Amino acid sequence: MTRMCLLGGVFLTAGMIVAGGAGTVARHQEKKKEVIQYVETDTGRWMVHDEGRPAPPVITPGTCGSMGPSAKAPSDAVMLFDGTGLANWTDAKGQPSKWLVRDGYMESVKGAGNIRTAQEFGSCQLHVEFATPAVVTGSGQGRGNSGVFLQGMYEVQILDSYENKTYPDGQCGALYGRAIPLVNASCKPGEWQTYDIIYHRPSFDPSGQVVRKARFTVIHNGVLIQDNVELPGGTGWISAHAITGYVPHGDKGPITLQDHTNPVRFRNIWIRELKD
Ligand code: MG
Repeated sequence: MTRMCLLGGVFLTAGMIVAGGAGTVARHQEKKKEVIQYVETDTGRWMVHDEGRPAPPVITPGTCGSMGPSAKAPSDAVMLFDGTGLANWTDAKGQPSKWLVRDGYMESVKGAGNIRTAQEFGSCQLHVEFATPAVVTGSGQGRGNSGVFLQGMYEVQILDSYENKTYPDGQCGALYGRAIPLVNASCKPGEWQTYDIIYHRPSFDPSGQVVRKARFTVIHNGVLIQDNVELPGGTGWISAHAITGYVPHGDKGPITLQDHTNPVRFRNIWIRELKD
């Protein structure tokens, strides 16, 4: 079992490249503190988002491309997306989303932003089916990137991780920046895949300190890839090797799907609320 205790950040002094307008790039030599976070694991000490960290074994899941055994929602589930429309979803501002709906699936649209459920949830069992683009473009984090965010903030990464190298804590099935999957159970680009996520929300005391951390179990294409993992902190991007910590929030939040500029498809999304 990987120990995911982040060590204190190491402060470096470095030049910084800042993207300017109209595609220009300006190099600023001003001194800038960059936080690099490290994690102690069974395979050694690694940076967050470390390309050199060993990737989990690649396996071939038993089912790809077709509806798996968990595809049909049980009677007590809330159907969030049945392929017919986005009535249960909005954009990040609560306005109608510009994601496409066709042929029973929805597809992220570059620039449309994330899509989120109107209803909010805390601890839950969540079923999501997704497909990364059949026509492969890009590489690493630029290939089939999306994500499923519990309470709108804790990301189970979606990526085309079929023969696509990236930092392992950002590959498909990772709790982004926090926990690599036990195995790489990815299907081929364009094939339908499943996530079954069991999520227990974190809780906070009145001062905002986390008193119970979030826990994730994730089954990817029928294969256990996250086994009751306690999330050490947030999953938000800070910089190349740093990830957000816990920030106090309420008991419920939306299920959010990411627009990371790649056209990733989703279908058959349902949820069952759980007691904490
Ligand atoms: Mg993502």
